[in-house]
Amino acid sequence: MVAAVAALTRFARESPWLIDASASYPPLIFGAGGLLAWRFRRSRAVGAIAALALVRWLGAEANPALLATLVPLSLAALTSTKDRGALATRGLGQVVGMLAAVSLVVGLPTLLPGLAAGIEAWDFIPGVGGGTSGGTAPSGAFSDTGILAATLAGAVIVGFAWFRDDPVDRGMAWCLVALLLALATAHDPVASSVYLMGAGVVLATAVVEKSYAMAYHDELTGLPARRALWQDLEAAGTTYSVAMVDIDYFKKFNDRHGHDVGDQVLMMVAGQLATVSGGGRTFRYGGEEFAVVFPGKSRKEAMPYLEELRAKIEESRFSVRRRGRPRKKPSGAKAARASKPAGKLQVTVSIGVAERTNKQSTPQKVVKSADRALYRAKQDGRNRVAR
Ligand code: GH3
Ligand code: MG
Ligand code: MG
Repeated sequence: MVAAVAALTRFARESPWLIDASASYPPLIFGAGGLLAWRFRRSRAVGAIAALALVRWLGAEANPALLATLVPLSLAALTSTKDRGALATRGLGQVVGMLAAVSLVVGLPTLLPGLAAGIEAWDFIPGVGGGTSGGTAPSGAFSDTGILAATLAGAVIVGFAWFRDDPVDRGMAWCLVALLLALATAHDPVASSVYLMGAGVVLATAVVEKSYAMAYHDELTGLPARRALWQDLEAAGTTYSVAMVDIDYFKKFNDRHGHDVGDQVLMMVAGQLATVSGGGRTFRYGGEEFAVVFPGKSRKEAMPYLEELRAKIEESRFSVRRRGRPRKKPSGAKAARASKPAGKLQVTVSIGVAERTNKQSTPQKVVKSADRALYRAKQDGRNRVAR
């Protein structure tokens, strides 16, 4: 998206359509993007879009050095918070905070003229940016404080995008890139407006992606969820097989070790199932049940891969974090006692597999048939694959 916007401003800068759009589309883009973010309860995106709209509205009125310093830093601060409903107290705080930070660009020269002048003139990178030593910079280019702020903000936002693995954080990172391009082209109202709109579209897209990820991915195991399974099966064509996988005596894990350990076992089994070969794809069906789809394979062809999975899970020993385990490693006899119980758990799974046939042609029927096979696997003593 950012690349497309950059290409537009580079190659279609003189197009009457672009010039028109840069003037008339911003309210539409920011309005629609803000509405979407608000409806999906992504208050950070609402705050960022509000800030973009205000930057666009201030336009050439605003001091570019202050803009380039305050806006990236406030965007980084916003990114570090969590999403809420935009009308919840904290969500509203995020939005108002962003608007206040951008307004400060206009207010600061009157409120604290010394500080404003300092931000503009502070010159610590020789030969670059504004200030006294690099005074050749065109208006709209970055002052030294702007460069420092952009670098800091970039580090913070990319850090969150990396570690939180949330589409909205990644959207914030690309929003910052587009925003910096808008600030760098502040002398050209068409280009900067197009970049700001691009940043708005990036955020709106991220909001939708986040909702998609929430609907189609299971949070605990990271596997695609049941909705994704049905979608995959609808698209699988006329030859495929489905395996239903159920953990054996899972209730005992919960009863004996607690729900948290149960969750850990679930995650570890999911991790093993995700390594399936033979073109299989693993889903969390619900609870302690999983589904593995083999597109283009009959159940006979899928069997060896399922048998491999079953054996792999049986052979692994899961070490789980004991409840109330001390943070520091205890020494001596205490250590020997602490490392013994609950340390290694074994878990097995039962698997039932079915394939699509002309008589059993809908995904629902194939899954039901796999479920019956799973029941047989349980009846026959568990820890086995049945068809
Ligand atoms: P079987 O071998 O017949 O499958 O026995 P089972 O105990 O696994 O079967 P059952 O279906 O009776 O129990 C499933 C249990 O899985 C019930 C529920 O407590 C547990 N469970 C379901 N979802 C979760 C989850 O997300 N986390 C945890 N910790 N437990 C879950
Ligand atoms: Mg079950
Ligand atoms: Mg079970």
